[in-house]
Amino acid sequence: MPYDALCEDQLCDVDLHIHTTCSDGVLSPKEIVEKAKQAGLKAISLTDHDTIKAIEPALPIAAAHGIELVPGVEMSATHEEIDVHILGYFVNYKHPGLIDYLEECRKHRLRRAERMVNNLEKMGVKIDVGDILQKAQNGSVGRPHIAAVLQESGYVKSYSEAFGKYLGAHSAAYVKSIETSPADVIKLINEAGGLSFLAHPGRSIPDDMLKYLMNIGLDGIEVIHPSHDEDQQRYYREIANEYFMLFSGGSDFHGGRPIDEENFGKVAIRYDWLQKIKARLCIA
Ligand code: AMP
Ligand code: ZN
Ligand code: FE
Ligand code: FE
Repeated sequence: MPYDALCEDQLCDVDLHIHTTCSDGVLSPKEIVEKAKQAGLKAISLTDHDTIKAIEPALPIAAAHGIELVPGVEMSATHEEIDVHILGYFVNYKHPGLIDYLEECRKHRLRRAERMVNNLEKMGVKIDVGDILQKAQNGSVGRPHIAAVLQESGYVKSYSEAFGKYLGAHSAAYVKSIETSPADVIKLINEAGGLSFLAHPGRSIPDDMLKYLMNIGLDGIEVIHPSHDEDQQRYYREIANEYFMLFSGGSDFHGGRPIDEENFGKVAIRYDWLQKIKARLCIA
């Protein structure tokens, strides 16, 4: 277990950002819970892209292992042409409005994958959309599934080459993500009883956009993330503190890359950060 700078010599055994096979992770919800147990984590959140399907099957397994499972989701939004990922914690995974909206996202992601396959074909890259859907196993289909098929078909040697050449936001085959506004995503998370957190702001969110999101009701900031160095961790924690916001963090584990294994169980937060999140919702 890590005792990093922000843990201030306290145990960091909570990971609130993990993907499963319900979106673009390689381990099933059950496998993630077992892995978390092995790593000594006390609480986790499964935060799949635009789906909450991992939560219900994982709940009894987590309970059996004595792990606290925070219902979570990582929702896609777009603001001023920039992809914004918003984490929702403690959402009611039976909320009809949330379920309906995420079903629309599932369909949108399917159409988007088909359009990217068409774009690739125009570039002379021929892959089968069926292979992509098989990788996605009925879950939230995304660019990592396309990257995997590109790699298996021999068009690229790695994921990063797939994103650099074909799938990145500035690449030829790219199709925009879900264009829902962050305001609507934050509202929906709140309506479903949850709290909204800006995921990995250090990756691509300019400070004025962060301020804007704070003004429209964002509840917290993801401070700890593998893409944040120590300075960024301090920076975002200071901002969150200054504006009385909550902070969260986690490994953003997807599996399949050595770095994921290095991060799992290590890029984590203190339990008292989770307690503060729960206190905001009056959860014991
Ligand atoms: P999507 O939801 O389809 O837009 O895919 C977004 C996901 O793709 C992210 O959550 C990452 O897991 C992955 N991703 C995005 N950019 C890259 C990149 N440059 N290299 C590898 N994976 C990436
Ligand atoms: Zn992902
Ligand atoms: Fe993300
Ligand atoms: Fe993520």
